[in-house]
Amino acid sequence: MPGLNGDFIPPAKPVIGEAEIEAAVRVLRSGLVVQGPEVKAFEEEFAELVSGRHCVAVNSGTSALQLTLMALGFGPGDEIIVPSFSFAASANSIRLVGAEPVFVDIEPGNFCLDPAAVAAAVTPRTVAIMPVHLYGHPATMDKIMTIAEQHGLAVVEDAAQAHGASLNGKPVGAFGTAGCFSFYPTKNMHSLEGGMISTADAGLARTLRMLRNQGMEQRYANEVVGANMRMTDVAAAVGRVQLRQLPEWTAQRQANAKFLDSKITGMLIPPVADGATHVYHQYTVRARGDRDAAQRRLTELGIGNAVYYPTPIHRLKPFLTAEGTPGPWELPETERAAAEVISLPVHPSLSQSDLERIADGANLAGGAR
Ligand SMILES: *Cc1c(COP(=O)(O)O)cnc(C)c1O
Repeated sequence: MPGLNGDFIPPAKPVIGEAEIEAAVRVLRSGLVVQGPEVKAFEEEFAELVSGRHCVAVNSGTSALQLTLMALGFGPGDEIIVPSFSFAASANSIRLVGAEPVFVDIEPGNFCLDPAAVAAAVTPRTVAIMPVHLYGHPATMDKIMTIAEQHGLAVVEDAAQAHGASLNGKPVGAFGTAGCFSFYPTKNMHSLEGGMISTADAGLARTLRMLRNQGMEQRYANEVVGANMRMTDVAAAVGRVQLRQLPEWTAQRQANAKFLDSKITGMLIPPVADGATHVYHQYTVRARGDRDAAQRRLTELGIGNAVYYPTPIHRLKPFLTAEGTPGPWELPETERAAAEVISLPVHPSLSQSDLERIADGANLAGGAR
């Protein structure tokens, strides 16, 4: 789709470079493709990103969340607090183990769980809190951890969009009982498909390793009922190549965001909380006026753009009540964000002229009707 001012600037650009291809071919030629030495090496290397916690690789970010909830023993009758303003996978993982998502509002500044609303939503049935580090900005983890400790709740961080993000110097995935990452192609780094769980608890790590592999540690000595959520060695080899490039890519995303911050006046730029390191999985602005018109204008100008997420999870069909209506949730900031946000390209493959076109386009589109 060519724009008026040149080529279309895609909203995301997954990298599959020569190094990724060589790594995959090397594993394919070895003939040992299922979970093996590459997975083990990927887990050890990824641990550096989460303060040296135990890391367990799985076949997707959704599996990471679901397996963690399974390992923690959550199921029917349990309530888990989660934002409605997220990708459906967050709440799907809760339903997949038979537990109930309790939707809580977000803070308008960081688009993440509002700690005050979390505290107000705790009931005797609450077992866990699932903060989502949306768009690559860390949730307000210090306050969320305090609430969790007061009530004896587990914390499962959905860090699918936030590899390397941190709050007051501590990386996401190193706060909660467990942290769950995704390596889907459009994420800040990928393994074709894949996921990773981080935890400080060696016992939990062992349970996760068993549950991803039919419930066995020793072959055919099954201890519990498990799934097959293993990562392949091909995926891990690609993930290892990407992990080495992550610091450079993150710095480039941050530099791109800084440039856009300095140039965009026609829309509200994304704030960064004190002490937070944002890794800009998405660069998400709020339209001041008519969002549909702004999106149309951006697209005419050849600037990729998208709304994550136009429908909050509590309004999606699987999460409606038996009557087909949304539950009794009061989520004004969630509804407002869903109506206002637009994500602009921020990925590391953008050129300086792309960035200038994006900023100019956002300023033009900001006044569109
Ligand atoms: C991508 C994503 C997931 C799921 O990861 P997959 O690897 O696609 O299964 C979960 N939560 C959030 C917030 C995501 O963005």
